[in-house]
Amino acid sequence: MTHILHRTIHTKMPVAVGGKGIELIDAEGKTYIDASGGAAVSCLGHGHPEVLAVLHEQLDRLAYAHTSFFTTEVTEKLADRLVADAPEGLNHVYFLTGGSEAVEAALKMARQYFVEKGEPQRRHIIARRQSYHGNTLGALATGGNEWRRAQFRPLLVETHHIDPCFAYRFQETGESDEAYAARAADQLEQKILELGPDQVMAFVAETVVGATAGAVPAVADYFKRIRAICDKYGVLLILDEVMCGMGRTGTLHACEQEGVVPDLMTIAKGLGGGYQPIGAVLLHDRIFDAFAQGSGFFHHGHTYTGHPMAAAAGLAVQEVIHRHNLLSNVVDMGDYFESRLIERFGNHHNVGDIRGRGLFRALEFVGDRTSKAPFEPALKLNARVKKEAMARGLMVYPMGGTVDGRAGDHVLLAPPFIVNKQDVDAIVDRLGEAVDAAIASTR
Ligand code: PMP
Repeated sequence: MTHILHRTIHTKMPVAVGGKGIELIDAEGKTYIDASGGAAVSCLGHGHPEVLAVLHEQLDRLAYAHTSFFTTEVTEKLADRLVADAPEGLNHVYFLTGGSEAVEAALKMARQYFVEKGEPQRRHIIARRQSYHGNTLGALATGGNEWRRAQFRPLLVETHHIDPCFAYRFQETGESDEAYAARAADQLEQKILELGPDQVMAFVAETVVGATAGAVPAVADYFKRIRAICDKYGVLLILDEVMCGMGRTGTLHACEQEGVVPDLMTIAKGLGGGYQPIGAVLLHDRIFDAFAQGSGFFHHGHTYTGHPMAAAAGLAVQEVIHRHNLLSNVVDMGDYFESRLIERFGNHHNVGDIRGRGLFRALEFVGDRTSKAPFEPALKLNARVKKEAMARGLMVYPMGGTVDGRAGDHVLLAPPFIVNKQDVDAIVDRLGEAVDAAIASTR
């Protein structure tokens, strides 16, 4: 009998006792290929010797110092590294312990920015349906996943949602990418006009949608148009790259592929690769300058902000990625992964869409490929695929059900950046068997 409140109360969990490379090992000695990096976290896999050496050394030197008394060498170094690699203008970093905290901080930064600038009436947050920004109250209010929000709605601040840019589900037959990008982005302008342009604070979006719709990149030029709309009305653009960032899509930041620079960007997961809990907000000069010229500080703080062990993990992970040129492996293995997924599932009767970028991929399941009707939600195909995959020694991240009827069950795939072709082959083979067994179990 466990005393831990696990997410799924009635499911007996295997006990993880070790991890090496792309595999986790349970107490029975069974190994699992971590093809989802947990939840797109473990970008270097498990037990990476170069990361462990840095962590041991940092632990010997200094485990903790509160940021209202000290800065530390390792947090400064990590901030320098992040800024050196960041898009132009994102020259400031605020450290946190995870993704939700980063989103909360970014929302408060946006608010404080307008207070400092003498526009305190700006308070509206616009985000997108079928998005996930975290589970704390502000982040939950911002996300557009009704299933997650429903019970907590009375506690959530007012937010506004537009449709996502999601070609498989929302692009009309015969509609060009250009026309669709414009149609999807223009919803933002309409919403800003509806709320009153001088009342809107920020637009928040995942550059590539992760945990609600499953590895959904926008069509070309959508984000450029979004950036232009934000600029036109003085609305801040917050890109949430907690899941899709830090190399996962083949560039360090997913927004590099969109040709836009946000005002605030949240990162987490792959930043520390799971070796320590860490998240961060990257701030544009214009936000920092408003604080510097205004009250002189950001009205926020957490006990573990800038934790030296977390920073050491972040620095070690990012240095390993640089040293071993792993982003080029993400691109090469991402292409290979895509081709293998298409080969295996491209004609599969119940796979409607294979999508993603780099080593951030998803399969969306359907009941019927032509009509794109979702796989019967009550059958919980995503959970069945997870179960069959675990039985075959494979971890994939399941997400389920229809979200306002516009997306079906899917599994997210986010293997470590160190995978080679044999690893990818093993993932696709085991996933193929798991999907077929899961579908057979519904009959
Ligand atoms: N934003 C995005 C885009 C995420 O994918 C997640 C986590 N899945 C979060 C925020 C929340 O991060 P955390 O679970 O670390 O609080």
